[in-house]
Amino acid sequence: MKILHTIADVRDELKKARTAHKTIGFVPTMGYLHQGHLSLMERARQENDVVVISIFVNPTQFGQGEDLDSYPRDFERDSQLAETVGVDLLFAPPAQEMYPEGYTTYVEAEGSITGLLCGRSRPGHFKGVTTIVSKLFNIVMPDRAYFGQKDAQQVAVIQQMVRDLDFDIDIIPCPIIREEDGLALSSRNTYLTPQGRKEAVVLSQSLFRAKEMIESGEEDASKIRAFIIENIRSAKEADIDYIEIVNARTLQKIEKVQGDVLIALAVKIGKTRLIDNIRMEV
Ligand code: AMP
Repeated sequence: MKILHTIADVRDELKKARTAHKTIGFVPTMGYLHQGHLSLMERARQENDVVVISIFVNPTQFGQGEDLDSYPRDFERDSQLAETVGVDLLFAPPAQEMYPEGYTTYVEAEGSITGLLCGRSRPGHFKGVTTIVSKLFNIVMPDRAYFGQKDAQQVAVIQQMVRDLDFDIDIIPCPIIREEDGLALSSRNTYLTPQGRKEAVVLSQSLFRAKEMIESGEEDASKIRAFIIENIRSAKEADIDYIEIVNARTLQKIEKVQGDVLIALAVKIGKTRLIDNIRMEV
């Protein structure tokens, strides 16, 4: 596996692959890899000749007072893990490489797709995401890019951006990988205290029970939402940021649970903000 730190080196390396008509699969990450990330890389490995990943804790997607400085990092371990799943090229640029002095250009998806859910609680977050992902797409120029459904709004925003800006890249959403008790894997789970870790299971449990309610015929989104809120409030350390039932493509709130439905939530457990969701066709 090659480890490269500059845009010029990545371009050089991938030019060879493209000339040889090899397909390129790309997985952008912020590192501190876990099985959720690795599942994306494994899928990319199956479907492409060359697998590229990036590890970059992107400063522009963190707001003031968020965890940019404390975000967990372990480059040695990450590169070993990436190698075990057959990654060919790991791109790990320093911040200066992506945002040199005098940098002024941003990519932003406007409107309701970024205005609700995490976009509402984290203003500017998706502007940072669409900017860095466009830059990475321009550098790597992959055939396919893999994103976790764990960040459901991110998937919707990236799909919108790819449509709007005519990126010739297939966006492949991949399922959420969970711990045995249901907690969605996340690099931020390391922030949880032992008590918080126990309580965090309430997020996925509530979502699974909401799914059961829907499967037994409940169609009223407000009833399902109220049920989830009550459930999550039973955890002492839980502080709800949002719980919404929306159309999975448009991210617009729905009253009747019908079609491509996404139940998405963000909850603070102690100081740790966690997100989770469930998507279902009703
Ligand atoms: P991050 O490093 O948090 O920016 O995540 C990089 C990619 O891994 C994103 O596409 C995430 O959605 C995806 N990802 C993170 N956690 C999971 C998970 N538990 N299951 C599947 N994909 C995940």
